[in-house]
Amino acid sequence: MAEKLTLDIVTPYGHVFTGEVDEIVASGSDGELGILPDHIPLITTLKIGMLTYRKGSETAHFFVNWGYAEIGPDRVTIIADSAEKSEDIDVERAKKAMQRAEERLKQIEKFDEGRARAALERSMMRIQVAEKQTAR
Ligand code: ATP
Repeated sequence: MAEKLTLDIVTPYGHVFTGEVDEIVASGSDGELGILPDHIPLITTLKIGMLTYRKGSETAHFFVNWGYAEIGPDRVTIIADSAEKSEDIDVERAKKAMQRAEERLKQIEKFDEGRARAALERSMMRIQVAEKQTAR
């Protein structure tokens, strides 16, 4: 029986996290996904959202932009378009991205509405995740 999980978060921009954790909560496309060691093998999609892990008394949070979670009994691999740990999120940048997306949504005849909505969703989620600092 597996007792720990190795969590890997990978993006095209680089490796965001590798480490042993006790528990993971991710934003699955169909709802919140709680993962403990010995989970049944599963590949599922993730939506723009927050991923949280707990290791002992430590809890940390990540912004995750779409992607896949490959879940095995002792390893969870997240492959996402982009991801950042809460402390690494540049809130000013996210606020600017939010304003840019809001402006674009006012002029949908000039901009792609779907792209602007996704950019707005990313920026709002980054601002939300940045408020959650690692607790020990
Ligand atoms: P922006 O318009 O500010 O580039 P975006 O949502 O289009 O935002 P992404 O395509 O998700 O950006 O990410 C591109 C790269 O920039 C990734 O490496 C991502 O981690 C990083 N990144 C984007 N926004 C932020 C942010 N607010 N803080 C830290 N890193 C960020």
